[in-house]
Amino acid sequence: MAYRDYEAVIGLEVHCQLLTEAKAFSPDSAAFGAAPNHHIDPISLGHPGTLPVLNEQVVEYTIRIGLATHCDIAARSDLARKHYFYPDLPKGYQISQYETPICADGYVEIVMDDASGDGAPTIKRIGLTRIHIEEDAGKSVHDQDPTATLLDFNRCGVPLIEIVSEPDLRSAREAYLYMQKIRQIVRWLGICDGNMEQGSLRCDANVSVRKRGQTALGTKAEVKNMNSFRNVERAVQYEIDRQIALVERGEDVVQETRLWDADQGETRPMRSKEEAHDYRYFPDPDLVPIVVTDETREAIRATLPELPEARQERFVDALGLPPYDAGVLTEERGIADYFEHSLNALHAKQPSGDLQTHAKAVSNFVMGDVRRVLNEQALAIETFPIDPERLAGLIQLRLEDQINSSAAQQIFDAMLTDERAPNAIAEAENLLQVSDTGALLPVVAQVLADSEKQVQMYLSGKESIVGYFIGQVMRRFDGSPDPKLVRQLLQEELEKLRA
Ligand code: ADP
Ligand code: MG
Repeated sequence: MAYRDYEAVIGLEVHCQLLTEAKAFSPDSAAFGAAPNHHIDPISLGHPGTLPVLNEQVVEYTIRIGLATHCDIAARSDLARKHYFYPDLPKGYQISQYETPICADGYVEIVMDDASGDGAPTIKRIGLTRIHIEEDAGKSVHDQDPTATLLDFNRCGVPLIEIVSEPDLRSAREAYLYMQKIRQIVRWLGICDGNMEQGSLRCDANVSVRKRGQTALGTKAEVKNMNSFRNVERAVQYEIDRQIALVERGEDVVQETRLWDADQGETRPMRSKEEAHDYRYFPDPDLVPIVVTDETREAIRATLPELPEARQERFVDALGLPPYDAGVLTEERGIADYFEHSLNALHAKQPSGDLQTHAKAVSNFVMGDVRRVLNEQALAIETFPIDPERLAGLIQLRLEDQINSSAAQQIFDAMLTDERAPNAIAEAENLLQVSDTGALLPVVAQVLADSEKQVQMYLSGKESIVGYFIGQVMRRFDGSPDPKLVRQLLQEELEKLRA
């Protein structure tokens, strides 16, 4: 059988660290980056006699993402103890949810690459089995002392959500797009910073293969330890290829957990099913069930921002943007806000202007120059030095032909470090296009007087030579003349000469 006779089946388990101030069950700080063992109250460490109390913000954040991903929100759900031994888990169990997750039966949509090339995006729905609340464990530090493993308990009790997908993904690329989608949503909702490199967004990939047309699922392997989006894609692809090669050789896929090694570009066995944990889950007797009334749920729904898909649709329908632009502008909520604030500021400056023209002009700037600088300087849009009002001022100068496109570029670059308004910079740098006929005419006349030969050529029918005169005027004039006006004046003067 050939490679294409197989189909990959993938389901992801994604952990997101919630951006709450306090930990999940104690008032201790959940902030990242403190010196080791500085956020370790007795509850986080599970000292005997302490009692956990659930942080309400954790529940609210989880309901937010549950609603944003079309989940059912359980009216009542339990927190459960999941027992296992690990040096960085001092309690000997992790508080999680088991039989009754707070959110279930949702979905997200991923936009598939345009394989056919006809520009029509294919949208695929990926089911979410559940989203539940749990707490993080601490961290074992192996690389500081060659003779010891050090323990940092700061992360103990930091709130997480686990998002479990249905086995709906069919390729490494889809797994990548799904992860990007999850990051977009959690960042959009402001509940997680979505940083895979720092581990605030993590993913375990369950991968199996089967013959095309077969409906039963194959045996899966679970792959861990991918710390970037690119590595999720690479690890899943490696695992698909490995499993197909196994089956082709007539061997069986073993149910096991495997570790991704990014340097070697391969997955390696970590533990097999025989060593699998028996977690002995049971509802935590120290914690009351989570009760979510209809009123609470609907109150949280009312606070949800306009979600990325809805915003993208509005940018296309109301602002006439191409779907591609709308997609790029809504990848991040901060960018979408920046775009809209800039557009509103521009439209306020030119209320009679065409909104769709304005939208496209702002979109070009944001998709191009603004995003380029954000990437180059590793900046967040929230700290971008040009605020929407100033960007709108710059675009206005360009739309009104007060500056040419290279001047616009030059002023934009200057605005990154110069706080002045764009027209102040344009004036100071002599970049305003001169549209003053009185100032231009003497130079036009002088150029024609100095170019007898070329004038004769023009008069005898070689009208394309007007480009030569324009070049001369632009060069000799002290400032930036509006080239359209220069052409018009030259043509008028030359026609006078003909008559
Ligand atoms: P486990 O009991 O091993 O934790 P679950 O049924 O809870 O497995 O599923 C965990 C994740 O693995 C889910 O995202 C699910 O979609 C995915 N999954 C389950 N079975 C398969 C399979 N045969 N192939 C690929 N993914 C699978
Ligand atoms: Mg499971």
